[in-house]
Amino acid sequence: MRDLLPDKAERLRYIEQAARETAYLHGYREIITPIVEHYELLAAKVGEENRKRMFIFEDLGGRKVALRPEFTASVARLMATKLVADPKPLRLFSVGSLYRYDEPQFGRYREFWQANYELFGSNKPESDAEILILTDNLLNEIGLENYQLKIGHVGIIKGILTEEHFSEDKQNSIMQLLDKKEWETALNYLQQEGCTQKCLDTLQKIFNIKSKDPISTINEITEVTSDYTIALRAIENLAEILNLLEFENFHAKLLLDAGFARGLEYYTGIIFEMYVPEMEIALGGGGRYDKLIMLFSGDMIPAVGVAPGIDRLVLALEDQGKIPQVVRKHRILIIPVNREMIKPSFQVASLLRDAGLVVEVEAMGRSVSKALSDANRRGITHTLILGPREMADNTIVMRQMAERVQETVKVKNLIKLLKQPKQ
Ligand code: AMP
Repeated sequence: MRDLLPDKAERLRYIEQAARETAYLHGYREIITPIVEHYELLAAKVGEENRKRMFIFEDLGGRKVALRPEFTASVARLMATKLVADPKPLRLFSVGSLYRYDEPQFGRYREFWQANYELFGSNKPESDAEILILTDNLLNEIGLENYQLKIGHVGIIKGILTEEHFSEDKQNSIMQLLDKKEWETALNYLQQEGCTQKCLDTLQKIFNIKSKDPISTINEITEVTSDYTIALRAIENLAEILNLLEFENFHAKLLLDAGFARGLEYYTGIIFEMYVPEMEIALGGGGRYDKLIMLFSGDMIPAVGVAPGIDRLVLALEDQGKIPQVVRKHRILIIPVNREMIKPSFQVASLLRDAGLVVEVEAMGRSVSKALSDANRRGITHTLILGPREMADNTIVMRQMAERVQETVKVKNLIKLLKQPKQ
């Protein structure tokens, strides 16, 4: 696990704040759940891949607990208990750190941050479209460019396998192989399991369908799967969702990939991941999972959601040279000329902070000249020097560091002077 030093931490929090603002603008309300959950809950409800990677320990009360590897299990727990009677649709947002014992590498950490948006209660295509639109808005808002949504639908391949009488377990094994892009292994496995030649041929064709032109791709997939009614229903659903995204302000490029699968086995409908050309790893992913809540509560509550990875969004912005800068027009340092001036300096500082200015007060007991050279080194834009004479006149010496000019100004005019735009 990493230590995040100020520059990194600031960027991470910037994205986190943008994610929260996006939630707010789309009507998603934040919930905060504990980082530690009962092991049993997580073991039973998280996907196979995450289950193998949990940090598990016993607490002082002898309970077996684990650090959450994903939000969905905790949110689903609430859906089955405290939120069960809330009117639907229910739009929920969470953000925070997750823990997975992954092999650390570029963009993959054992502690990482994720935002999570989930819409419960609707299985209509407009709710899938809403999640994709929200994703698009977030990526656009943080200034990311040329991003792409890779989209698939688990109902296509699962539909074919269902019609070919493969059990849910076997279907999940296939989907996991596809998630790892092991198409050949998947086909060999199916062959060994007695899959018909027609099915193998159809899947082979499906694995090869990838295109940036959604309409023609939909037609192509429909043609290839024309003998499989359940798969055709999935394709219709996909077409309906994509159709809702065709409006002017939708920025993401779409890549339809018929053979695309995601690791978590609970997906039941559309699935997608976000990418930028500069990076091979996904910036986030999501999809529809209509049966997960049933595992908790027995109630069928359809759900669709997305989980943008905050660390990877920072990496993508850095790669595109769009490092989010926390905009601080001014950084001000107040330098008391002697110890008696410290308290009045605090008073001026608090006045300026009330007006939203970023202010530090010299804390090292440095002389004025030493404090000024330190201010230069640290990128302070203005220093305010407070001595007894100035204090008696309700004034202060304001020095513009870059211009190396200084003037004595009235304290009551300071805010106006510091807030006025630079020429
Ligand atoms: P998942 O929860 O596996 O669907 O992942 C959703 C997103 O979370 C991924 O696309 C990544 O952006 C991010 N993510 C998942 N695992 C990690 C990790 N170990 N380190 C950093 N980000 C991760």
